[in-house]
Amino acid sequence: MSGQEKHKRKSQKLKEKVDASIEKAQIERGIFLVITGNGKGKTTAGFGTVTRAVGHGYKAAVAQFIKGTWACGERILLEQHGVPFSVMETGFTWDTQDRESDILAAKSVWADVKQYLQDPELHLVLLDELTYMLSFDYLDKQEVLDAIKNRPENQTVIVTGRGAIRELRDLADTVSVIKDEKHAYTAGIKARQGVDW
Ligand code: ATP
Ligand code: MG
Repeated sequence: MSGQEKHKRKSQKLKEKVDASIEKAQIERGIFLVITGNGKGKTTAGFGTVTRAVGHGYKAAVAQFIKGTWACGERILLEQHGVPFSVMETGFTWDTQDRESDILAAKSVWADVKQYLQDPELHLVLLDELTYMLSFDYLDKQEVLDAIKNRPENQTVIVTGRGAIRELRDLADTVSVIKDEKHAYTAGIKARQGVDW
């Protein structure tokens, strides 16, 4: 058999396999996606999906559980397209010292998120850096899990952040763990506007 024939036969087999698994996936509903791990790209992937949804004319909402030092470019763009943002204006940063004010800030963003998670008009809800709120016990774990579980059927929820707790991973339909193989920062290269935020 020639190389070309071999290749043809192989790709035919692959196509049959892929078609069969596409055929098998018949359930239509929103999913719960967790993007975790130590590598770069979690928030980027979350916002990429929001852009997808908005591009198709769906409604989406974003909550950010980290106090923004810089306004991220995605917020500037997506707000122009009517995407509501709930952002921690005070409180939690990476080097936080004040637990009480962090918890207050977390709860105030969570109050908005509860509304998002009950709104069937929202095709997609991005909960950026929510993982820390659970690993630091800033929000009630069961309340968060229940709210995600009981969301409207067609709503997709994305949680990003390092160290997603087991219960989040268990509840998720899809879990992606982004591995840190290498990062420019460790070579002394500064975070850049338009790339890192
Ligand atoms: P991004 O927002 O670029 O998608 P991320 O959401 O995966 O990154 P976070 O854990 O939220 O990463 O980290 C926030 C900031 O730290 C970002 O500016 C990101 O570029 C940077 N960062 C991400 N991964 C690493 C790493 N492995 N080492 C150093 N800095 C990192
Ligand atoms: Mg992030």
